[in-house]
Order: sequence, then C-alpha cells, then structure tokens
Amino acid sequence: MATKRDYYEVLSVPRNASKDEIKSAYRKLALKYHPDRNKSSEAEEKFKEISEAYAVLSDQEKRKRYDTYGHVGTEEVFRGSEDNFAEIFKDMGFGGVGDIFEQIFGRMGGGGGRNRNDPFGFSSRNNDRRIRGRDLLYEVDMTLEDVLKGHKQEIQIPSIENCTTCSGSGAAPGTSAKKCVTCNGQGQTRRVYNQNQFSTFISLETCNTCHGEGRVIEKPCHTCKGNGKINKTNTVDIDIPPGIEDGTTLRLSGKGEHVQGGVNGDLLIRIHVLPHNLFKVLDEGDLICNYEVFFTDMILGIEARVPTLDGMEKLKIPACTKANSVFKIKGKGLPRYGRYGRGDQYVKVEVKLPDKINDKQKNLLKDLAKEFKK
Ligand SMILES: [Zn+2]
Ligand SMILES: [Zn+2]
Repeated sequence: MATKRDYYEVLSVPRNASKDEIKSAYRKLALKYHPDRNKSSEAEEKFKEISEAYAVLSDQEKRKRYDTYGHVGTEEVFRGSEDNFAEIFKDMGFGGVGDIFEQIFGRMGGGGGRNRNDPFGFSSRNNDRRIRGRDLLYEVDMTLEDVLKGHKQEIQIPSIENCTTCSGSGAAPGTSAKKCVTCNGQGQTRRVYNQNQFSTFISLETCNTCHGEGRVIEKPCHTCKGNGKINKTNTVDIDIPPGIEDGTTLRLSGKGEHVQGGVNGDLLIRIHVLPHNLFKVLDEGDLICNYEVFFTDMILGIEARVPTLDGMEKLKIPACTKANSVFKIKGKGLPRYGRYGRGDQYVKVEVKLPDKINDKQKNLLKDLAKEFKK
C-alpha cells in the first residue's frame, strides 16, 4: 500500500486546528481541485486526498482515532461523513455528494463486497449489510527475557458499538427513521435514458435523498449524530508464546476492531525484539556473547562464571585457550519457536590484558619470556 501523507499536512492546518479552520482549509482546496472546476488528472488525485483528510479531521471521533491510531482504510474514512461534505458542497454550488464521490472514488475498484454504488459504506449505517471492523496492527517491543518466558500484555482495541441513546437506529429518541419517499424505500432510483428513437436504457442509481439506505432520519440522534454507532475501546489480552523471533507478525483472527452486529477485524501483532546489552541472537534460538578472560587465565585455564539468560553458569576454559575461541553452553539459548527445546548459548572468549604493569610484574614477565625461549 502506498504511504499516505499526514492529513494535517494535506490540509495545511496545525494539529490543534479548530473545526472551523479545518473546514475553511478544505473549502479553499476543494474550490481549487473540485473536478467540476479543474479537469487535470492531478486535480482528481488531489481532490481525493483532501477529501479523505477532511472526512477524518471534520469528524471529532474519527479525528481522535486518527490521532491515536493513524491511517485506516479509505472506506472507513468516509463512513458517516457525508453530512460534513454535503454542507460544503451545497455552499459552493456543486452537485450532490453522491455524484462526485461516485464519479471519483467509484473507480477505485469494488472491494470488500460493498455496494458498488456506495464505495464508502455511507449506507451501511443502519441497514443489514454487515460492517467489518478494521484490521489493527500493534507493534510490541520485547526484551530477550520476555522472549524466553513469553509475554502477556493488555492492549486497547477500538470498538464500534450500537449507540445506547437511540439503540442503534440513528434517530433521536421518540422519533424513528421514515421510509424514503423518493425511492419508496428501495435505496435506488431508476433513470431512463433515450439513446435514440429505438432504444432506451435504464440505469439504477443510488437514491440521492437517502443515499441508498431506503430510509431517512429526520431528527438524528445527538449522541451518535445519526450514525447509530459509537466508538469505544475494549481491552484485549495478548499472550505471545516464548521463543518468538524479531519481525514476526502474529494474526489474531477476530481480535481487531470490534463491531457490534458486524464482523470483527483481525489483530496483527508485530514483534520487535530489543537489542540486549550482552547477548546477540543467532538462528534457531541460539545466542552468543563475548566474554573477557585475563591473559594468565587463558594460559593457565580457569573455571569461569559466565552470564546466561537464566543466571550465571560455570564454563571451563582449558589451559592454553586461543583468543576468540568459541565455547558452547548447551540449552541456554532461547526456546526454539514452534519446535521443542531451547537453542544453545555460545561464548566467544576474548583476551583481557592489563592496562599497565609495575616493575615486579615486568621482571617476572621478562623471566617468563626467557623461559619460553629456552
Ligand atoms: Zn444514537
Ligand atoms: Zn431514497
């Protein structure tokens, strides 16, 4: 997926811009790039981009979600934002929202089994088409100690639930949605084109009055602004198994954005294993660390105590060990992900030399050197 520009940047407004500032920024840009005025193909792209940014930033809930979670799929962006556009377009004397959006975005491809005439799910507010929640990506940082033991974490997942004020109808309490008279509740209108005297064709178009819903809410519920849905958060416990490798993405089916009465999205967990100050991860759960041994111990041999993820372990360094020799401590690596057992820990032995020597040490070493050269 192409990377998207920051919505605030797209509209050239500061992150703390007020609703009115956002509106007037969009208005200005829409006047410039609206396809009714500007026929260049860049204008169309630009119009898409600014409209998407405006759809999100003009809606308090969506803006909050964007500030917290970042970009989501385009179809989610426009859901329920129609009124914010309708007002502006009407002010500017442009055509209906449905027309322009279908003209521009209708070509972006069907996708997701959504109504072709309603690529943004404007009409998915209150009918029986099931909404699918968004897939959400969480990045989880883990230390090697977490990888060894496995890692549990609580994360907050956005959730779309039926508005309790209107029980999900979108109509203000005490009122109800009325059947749309324009389309007689069908959501679509038939337009007959006379091509010539012999042939006509009929096209089915999304009803402009109800935008395909077949019903019209005269008094929208003030809590959900007629959406019938409100945004909440749910806590989800995630349990990452031991031995997981850096860069792995786990998909937890149905644990993404929760949609009451709809289909939940998936939750994707991407693992970052943080660098450790002692150990480097090799393949297959193996670890390696460097370990300094004083030069006399390298020659004489020593029973060293080296760090592992489980604490200090004994390691026998034999006499006359060469610099940079590598020893193996079996089974002290990480659990082997998806397999039985643990990897091994390798220890690379480095020679530690004294920083300075005194006269006595110097004389002893000279004698020793002589002894070796005999
Ligand atoms: Zn409501
Ligand atoms: Zn209608």
